[in-house]
Amino acid sequence: VHRKLVVGNWKMNGNLNQLGEIAAIAAAAKEAAGVDVAICPPFTLIAAAVARSGGLPIGGQDVHSAESGAHTGNVSAPMLQEVHARLVIVGHSERRAEQHETDAEVRAKAETALRHGLQTIVCVGESEMDRAARDHVAVVTAQLEGSLPDQAHDGELVVAYEPIWAIGTGNVATPEDIAEMHAAIRAALVERLGEFGERIRILYGGSVKADNAAAIFAVPHVDGALVGGASLTADQFVPIIEAAA
Ligand code: 13P
Repeated sequence: VHRKLVVGNWKMNGNLNQLGEIAAIAAAAKEAAGVDVAICPPFTLIAAAVARSGGLPIGGQDVHSAESGAHTGNVSAPMLQEVHARLVIVGHSERRAEQHETDAEVRAKAETALRHGLQTIVCVGESEMDRAARDHVAVVTAQLEGSLPDQAHDGELVVAYEPIWAIGTGNVATPEDIAEMHAAIRAALVERLGEFGERIRILYGGSVKADNAAAIFAVPHVDGALVGGASLTADQFVPIIEAAA
């Protein structure tokens, strides 16, 4: 059993005026002993968020695989480190869809992030069509196989299972769906990494809210959550943190 990790992914939301939410979330996270909490705001807010976070880890939502260079619009791991980001999300389904990121690119990003000491959350998840075709476990384990860095032992790797059909839809996966996939992910991690695979935390993401969080956290191999919409305000996010504690 792992210490739970609850990460807020603000996506392309938030502004300087909303950093008070991060301060309030940080204060509540301090009270919630036994749970790790972090927030990933947009890049433009990271430095200001770190200043307001009272030690709550702040992270990026993506990182480039190269250290620097001609990659217009991208941000490197050393840049994240410089502003004291402590974690990063890679391979979110929105980036796989909108930026056409492949498993190989996600893996390269994860390798760079780990090398720079960033806790690295690798996201995987199937589409509604994959699930309708009963291919969901095969699709997700293949994504995981392609996206996991070779140097998984360096630094802290985290896996997030986010079924695409559950993201931002209010259609949370059932505890049975989540149990099936998290067990399959755990088995794949152990097959690939041996005993170390047991230590990697597996988060669930997709319409996690205050009223369903406790049931999700009770599912075997659910070691926390990656939360979108409900992480934007302390009002909604703090009860989820408390459900994990
Ligand atoms: P929602 O919690 O808004 O469904 O988003 C989940 C997600 O994509 C987190 O990365």
